[in-house]
Amino acid sequence: MRYSRAFIPTLKEVPKDATMPSHILMLRAGYARMVGAGIYELLPLGTRVLHKIEKIVREEMDAAGAQELLMPTFLPGEYFKESGRWELYGPTLLRIKDRKGGEYHLGPTHEEIVTDLVRREVKSYRQLPLNLYQIQNKYRDEPRPRAGLLRCREFIMKDAYSFDVSDEAALASYQQMHDSYHRIFQRLGLEYRVVEADSGAIGGKQSAEFQVLAQTGEDWIVACDECDYAANVEIARRGPVAGAEPDPSKMLPVEKVETPNTHTIEEVVAFFGPDVTAAQTLKSLVYLASDEIVLAVVRGDHEINEIGLARQLGVDALLLASDAAVKEATNTEIGFVGPVDFGGRIIADPDAVSVLNAITGAGETPYHLKNVNHGRDYTAEVLSIRQATSGDPCPNCNGTLQLYRGIEGGHIFVLGTHYSDKMNATFLDEEGDSHPIVMGCYGIGVTRLIAAIIEQHHDEEGIRWPVHVAPYQVIVTPIGKDEEPLTKATEIYETLRDQGIEALLDDRSERPGVKFKDADLLGIPLRITVGSRGLKQGTVELKKRIEAESEDVPAADIVSATQAALAALRS
Ligand SMILES: [Zn+2]
Repeated sequence: MRYSRAFIPTLKEVPKDATMPSHILMLRAGYARMVGAGIYELLPLGTRVLHKIEKIVREEMDAAGAQELLMPTFLPGEYFKESGRWELYGPTLLRIKDRKGGEYHLGPTHEEIVTDLVRREVKSYRQLPLNLYQIQNKYRDEPRPRAGLLRCREFIMKDAYSFDVSDEAALASYQQMHDSYHRIFQRLGLEYRVVEADSGAIGGKQSAEFQVLAQTGEDWIVACDECDYAANVEIARRGPVAGAEPDPSKMLPVEKVETPNTHTIEEVVAFFGPDVTAAQTLKSLVYLASDEIVLAVVRGDHEINEIGLARQLGVDALLLASDAAVKEATNTEIGFVGPVDFGGRIIADPDAVSVLNAITGAGETPYHLKNVNHGRDYTAEVLSIRQATSGDPCPNCNGTLQLYRGIEGGHIFVLGTHYSDKMNATFLDEEGDSHPIVMGCYGIGVTRLIAAIIEQHHDEEGIRWPVHVAPYQVIVTPIGKDEEPLTKATEIYETLRDQGIEALLDDRSERPGVKFKDADLLGIPLRITVGSRGLKQGTVELKKRIEAESEDVPAADIVSATQAALAALRS
């Protein structure tokens, strides 16, 4: 492509409202434009990247035996009504009425539609296993679409669905997708972790998220520095922690202090002055576990792992008590609750009980207690109930957990018979007995991955595409006013193209500085610079986007040098 003819509308200024690097760079480098809130158009460069990602996804899905199909995005409401998700999705589902008043919606995901297809067409165990996938636009009316392509209302997803005769067979299909996803994320040049996940609203049994590590990600995960263990902080386990009891000889007498307007840990720390940190305070939260009132106590700088707490209490769900419920149960306002003289079950984290001379709510508004110690002033059941964080021991090995931020790039689930039961999707076994089909589903946020790759691969100057997904592999940049560099650059460009290398020829009559800045902004992995001075010695410059220095290459060898450099970038 000749740059002078290419539609690459770059911007000099950082667009208003864009804060994420990927959002800023996709707009500045002319990859995308916003049409409405959470609705984007991909321009030619963005579309080339999209096609590169899609190609890798298709190759790996096909290699795993999955078959591509294309379901509609405009869907009759009856299928989601059958599964119950017409109600469950609430305002996130984009609903449409047709001219006859019929209820329709745009597809946020396609479990029901594909289950309907399979229940009509699959009758026998002989037709299973089956894995069907598509790459297609999806619609979710996000309450706060933001961050460019990371959270959109219209986006492109690869969604696959597996159908099997048994739980074991379904697990094998799940494992196969697990392996395929590893290959996809590796080929995309992403640093990522596979994370045990809560299956949330989809209602499954086993699931994993493929989290792309990025400073700007909205999910918090912990991952072991030694083994494969990784999990969302909400559900992460950690190795055993011995809650050492405080030393009685160092305990000071309890003091009650009037502390008006101190409802949060930050306010308490500010009130008690510069010598006090959140780690010396205790956070006490009142929960309703079934009908029981439970006080959960963690160190002030820690967060409660509510899912872990519910699991340890043996209940399905915990409810954080409302202001009114706390007042009724403790006669105290939220913020002043504490474990001393609490008239109910207390569960404290090992790190909380080992705090010496802690500051806690006094159980009376508006007071706090200083010098509270476990064993002397209150007793609690000691259970590990806080969220994991950096420095915690790994639950699976002797390694240490590190805290990361991640962007969810892929998500795989064993669905079991959740949808096939609701929609009566069955098959006949060898004996002619009917059984529900066992399902799995597997998503990849394709447009989101464009942004996630940029979040991981950029610098101050612009994007640094991994070569497999770059819109062009090489930009050929003639500089100077003479005719010769342009003639030579055009010749190199045409030879590269003949060799199957995707090249962009910067034939614009711009100053070298402008051309170099744009090449860096666009993020093309290799730049070949052709100037009069070099040509006098018979050389041109070859520069990798990820390296500061360029090298002089004999003009006659530039094509083989380019091929070698691309091969090095690919490995
Ligand atoms: Zn480990």
